[in-house]
Amino acid sequence: MRKYHTEAEWREARRKAAREFWERNKANPLQDINPASIAKFWSLVDKAGPDDCWEWLGSRFKTGYGRFGFAHRQWYAHRVSMTLHDPSWDRRLLVCHTCDNPPCVNPAHLFCGTVADNMRDKSRKGRNRCNTPPGADHPNAKLTTEQARTILNSDKPASFFVERYGIHKTLVSNIRRRVSWRHL
Ligand SMILES: [Zn+2]
Repeated sequence: MRKYHTEAEWREARRKAAREFWERNKANPLQDINPASIAKFWSLVDKAGPDDCWEWLGSRFKTGYGRFGFAHRQWYAHRVSMTLHDPSWDRRLLVCHTCDNPPCVNPAHLFCGTVADNMRDKSRKGRNRCNTPPGADHPNAKLTTEQARTILNSDKPASFFVERYGIHKTLVSNIRRRVSWRHL
């Protein structure tokens, strides 16, 4: 890794890298995407009905989003789809899914938004952490409300409940420290 002698030097290098990144990206090589690449792109899409999700059939990023190789770079397939649909979209924005299906590239399911818009959208759909239901209603709940209350009110050692309920001792300690099941 390159060493910087002063903080100012390091800051300048970061500014330069950010500027270069933006210069490279605002050019948007996808604007010049050729018919062969467009055909290749759509050949990797399972175009269902106009209101259905169009699943990406090619390779995917670890996050589940489609990956499309073009102009020596890997692109998010849903962002490419947005570009083909509306070449003038502001590329600084996120392309979000109304369907919450990462491999979907149906332009009808995509919208541009800021990070804040995306958070609001997630929260509206109840996917935000703060909105996950507490206790036994939580999709990953390992205990019933009764069991959690027993742990909270008991002075038995954690190992007792680890064996009895088949849970990890961290969960016992989290319940007693009022980190989990705080609403009890
Ligand atoms: Zn969709």
